[in-house]
Amino acid sequence: MKCVSEMIYLDNNATTMPLPKVVEAMAANLRDGYANPSSVHQFGQSVRHSIECAREQVASLIGAKPREIVFTSGGTESINLAIRGALALHPERRRIVTTSVEHSAVLRLVENLEGEGYTVERVGVDSQGRIDESHWSKALTDDTALATMIHANNETGVVFDVARLADVAVKCGAVVHVDAVQSVGKIPIDVSKAAAQLVSLSAHKFHGPKGIGALYVRRRTRITPLIVGGNQESLLRGGTEHVAGIVGMGVAAEAARCDEVCVDIGRLRDAFEEGVLAAVPFAHVNGCDAQRICNTSNIGFEGISAEAILILLSEAGICASAGAACSSGSLEPSHVLTAMGIDERIAHGAIRFSLSRFTTRQEIERVVETLPKLLARLTVLS
Ligand code: PLP
Repeated sequence: MKCVSEMIYLDNNATTMPLPKVVEAMAANLRDGYANPSSVHQFGQSVRHSIECAREQVASLIGAKPREIVFTSGGTESINLAIRGALALHPERRRIVTTSVEHSAVLRLVENLEGEGYTVERVGVDSQGRIDESHWSKALTDDTALATMIHANNETGVVFDVARLADVAVKCGAVVHVDAVQSVGKIPIDVSKAAAQLVSLSAHKFHGPKGIGALYVRRRTRITPLIVGGNQESLLRGGTEHVAGIVGMGVAAEAARCDEVCVDIGRLRDAFEEGVLAAVPFAHVNGCDAQRICNTSNIGFEGISAEAILILLSEAGICASAGAACSSGSLEPSHVLTAMGIDERIAHGAIRFSLSRFTTRQEIERVVETLPKLLARLTVLS
């Protein structure tokens, strides 16, 4: 394996590099701030103060009030807490509306809920990954307990107009949850201006640490906890807090405001796609006509296996991901690309390149130069 500094890391939708100041703040907390934040002594209370500062930083990133932020172990837990927590308080309603392009955290959970007797309506998307808004509106009936949707798609980067979709759902009396794990820090989010009551976030997607996330719970929205124990997190998540993670998430949140950085990343992504399309005639950018987050490029290389491309990319020190899930040794096309109706030959060769603020123009140029050579080797083989 190449050493980290020699690698070109284009897998930022999987996870991002923690900012140096995040690492420093966490190290300082682990070293000097180890008291239990529930302890009444001054040392404990100073650690409590660090948590509350981080809560303000996270709240401010999404236009929330600090008391509306509940820290969790990450995006997946936030999603489970939001969905199960909201459903538990509406036992008379047994219908869930979601989309066909959710992350597995929502996908698997609603499959389980289906097994528990809920009816689940999955609203489809068009060939660009845009949601069918008229289906969404029709799917939301008066017996809908919960509507849950992804904000920015983790595979294609396609963005849904969650404010509009949430409005429709709230009018039907449904509780609305938004999976904003991939959109935070890439597009501005202001929960105070939207109707969604529950929004999931995860720190490691915006240069914070892994294993820490948050759920925004709008004031007066009632949910039940998944984890009961102590009185932490306003009784919504028992257990001694992961203080270093919370502190790191706060620092990352403060640095994650969408600004010129996103514009620069978007320019690099566009240059990357132009370069690849010019050099590879059988390349297709999935979702290119839809609104997308700035950093994501999902490219299908028709007739070539994504697994083979990834192996050669990895040997060349380039980290990317397949737009497909590996199941029992064979690469199944991803459910997202399948829902978009992407041709199987393109979907099987889909690679997700995801950039970050640390991606440089030189790196993009190197990938644009290297990729066609790797693909040429594979086309000769096939
Ligand atoms: N939702 C989306 C859209 C994601 O991309 C991810 C992670 O890839 C998750 C949820 C789960 O987040 P976590 O890894 O923090 O559990």
